Amino acid sequence: MEHGEILTTLEDIVTDCGAELIIFDLDNTLLQYRSTQPYQAVDKFVIELIMKRDSFSEEQAKNILERIKEENQNDNPNNPPDISLGIKKRYGLSTDEYFAETWGKFDPGDFADKNESLVTALRNLNKKGVQMAVLTNAPRIWAQNVLSWLGTADMFEGKLWSGAHKEELRKPDPQAFKQICDHYKISPEKMLAVGDSFGNDLLPAEKLGAWTLIVTQNARAYEADYWMPTLR
Ligand SMILES: [Mg+2]
Repeated sequence: MEHGEILTTLEDIVTDCGAELIIFDLDNTLLQYRSTQPYQAVDKFVIELIMKRDSFSEEQAKNILERIKEENQNDNPNNPPDISLGIKKRYGLSTDEYFAETWGKFDPGDFADKNESLVTALRNLNKKGVQMAVLTNAPRIWAQNVLSWLGTADMFEGKLWSGAHKEELRKPDPQAFKQICDHYKISPEKMLAVGDSFGNDLLPAEKLGAWTLIVTQNARAYEADYWMPTLR
């Protein structure tokens, strides 16, 4: 097979490389966004949280949010301010409590369309005994809701690794992938990493000797072993 060759389906790719374990990214991989992404919609739920906790009007809550944004500018000015820091401090919330009040309230259907051909492909791979796991830096509660919404919760029960907490192993650390290979006692050479970000989802796996599949509509990406514009 040539580098970057397009194969028709996920099943074809797995057959081609002989992978026994697939590690999927979640956002923009298993779930393909239409345009707006959840982090861009978080303000709405943060405003509701402030209104509820402080018994504030919407106007007052918006002002508080603006102040929190100013006080929590990201070190990298291209990234949005870290609202969660300010909110957690103000209300004494744990990270999981903050996620439950924000990401936990998102409806995946507001952001993405269902992909039935992907679900069929996953079911077929599951039947063949191919191990499948999800590794994401997104909050666990969001990942669980997405997997349920897709209709794949049963297949990924106990197979979700979330690195949303800073103290957890998270991408792009190759060890985040290695811990999953170790869990299934499958060597990285028999693993296929699938994701939309080469640097985060694929390069760390490649360093371990794994196969890589990039999912992107933008351009044909030759740095991965396989390419698909959308999973099916
Ligand atoms: Mg992604």
